[in-house]
Amino acid sequence: MQVIIKRNFITMRIKELLASRDFNSEVEVKGWIRTKRGNKNIAFVALNDGSIIHNIQVVIDMSRFDEELIRKLTTGSCIAVRGKLVESPGKEQQVEVHADSVLLYGTADPESYPLQKKGHTLEFLREIAHLRPRTNTFGAVLRIRHAMAFAIHEYFNDHGFYYLHTPIITGSDAEGAGEMFRVTVLDAKNPPLKEDGHVDFSEDFFGRETNLTVSGQLEGELGALALSCIYTFGPTFRAENSNTPRHLAEFWMIEPEMAFYEIEDNMNLAEDFLKYLIRYALDNCKEDLEFLMNMYDKELVSRLNFVVSNNFERITYTRAIEILEQSDATFEFPVSWGIDIQTEHERYLVEKHFKKPVIVTDYPMAIKAFYMKQNDDGKTVRGMDVLFPKIGEIIGGSQREEDLEKLSRRMKELKIPEKDLWWYLDTRKFGSAPHSGFGLGFERLLLFITGMSNIRDVIPFPRFPKNADF
Ligand code: ATP
Ligand code: MN
Repeated sequence: MQVIIKRNFITMRIKELLASRDFNSEVEVKGWIRTKRGNKNIAFVALNDGSIIHNIQVVIDMSRFDEELIRKLTTGSCIAVRGKLVESPGKEQQVEVHADSVLLYGTADPESYPLQKKGHTLEFLREIAHLRPRTNTFGAVLRIRHAMAFAIHEYFNDHGFYYLHTPIITGSDAEGAGEMFRVTVLDAKNPPLKEDGHVDFSEDFFGRETNLTVSGQLEGELGALALSCIYTFGPTFRAENSNTPRHLAEFWMIEPEMAFYEIEDNMNLAEDFLKYLIRYALDNCKEDLEFLMNMYDKELVSRLNFVVSNNFERITYTRAIEILEQSDATFEFPVSWGIDIQTEHERYLVEKHFKKPVIVTDYPMAIKAFYMKQNDDGKTVRGMDVLFPKIGEIIGGSQREEDLEKLSRRMKELKIPEKDLWWYLDTRKFGSAPHSGFGLGFERLLLFITGMSNIRDVIPFPRFPKNADF
């Protein structure tokens, strides 16, 4: 990762510099000033370049520098420093840089720089999402986010899955996972109208109505029924007006889809995959996790360790309802067989009853999507949700109905026109096979792994109702 620039100076990322014991070597380091303290003889600058949670201390002998320059080294300004790497006498850090030259790239006026002071609330930082990556918290979250994305690709690549890119603009409105955002080039003020007064989308860009995708699953199934095991990992969009700490209008979803997998295989994969990702974070993001643990959530690391070292509980929906009905807890949404299990119920099962992650299977057909495999009881389908502490549903998935006749019948009952999904039904006509898959919300995973409590704080630029400014 070393980039050679002019002469003998090697620009090093602070992460490498802090690990180096190559004392007295000439180094160059670039970053943003977090703090400056000192007196008229000496200045100590804490510099951060985002490569690691820690800062490097730059020591400036004032007698060797122009006072005016040093005065401009304020919190938030950006500099390049050349100097010597020295063993630090302080106990805060092991190495420091003694500056021989300082180049000021960009000043940051202390009067107006929003991050001049420490200790801002997460709510305030959401209003300055363009600058919050420069805070310790968001540095940690964004590095963990990167590590998790990397680990996801690594896991699937190691397990023989192919990364399939499913469309973001979709012509199918039968994905059935929520309200969609329309994609159109028609003039909103004066759209072409049909005789019945409705907008004439045949004049739109694609000659039909199109939307942003809510899930890559249906296309994912096309891939699985050719490549056996695929996964998607891309942005998904839902226009539901859910102002909750667990919903975004734009979020990233990981959707593996596997031919020849039954529901048990699907559950095993989901559990193994989640544990792998958590273990990866524990092994590779230690310092960032420790920072977040100390700042926000004292139980964080023990909770992560607990989840990787215990089996997930597996119960049917019917059993889950029995447990909820027998509990003494009071719920806002009353419980009876047939209801959609709400977050409060999910959290009760996970946090109070089983005290570990739970996989709920075999949901009532009426509350699940048309494509889930129908059980022989005629009432339930082979859906599975993975429920996590603090989060509730982190994964939703199912074995898919591979029988053309059953699938068509269900679509008729739900009034989903076959002509809209003829391509999907073709997979059941030609070489149909048992198959399964699930969707993991990337930001829900990150909520769990970082211990943050609002989903808007685990994505760089959150989209939610009335918020898409930048
Ligand atoms: P919920 O009931 O929590 O709203 P859902 O049942 O609508 O979720 P699915 O359609 O099953 O969600 O989507 C699969 C996964 O995507 C969910 O398990 C969750 O992790 C994630 N997810 C769903 N909706 C959102 C959202 N609006 N923001 C962030 N993640 C989401
Ligand atoms: Mn779901």
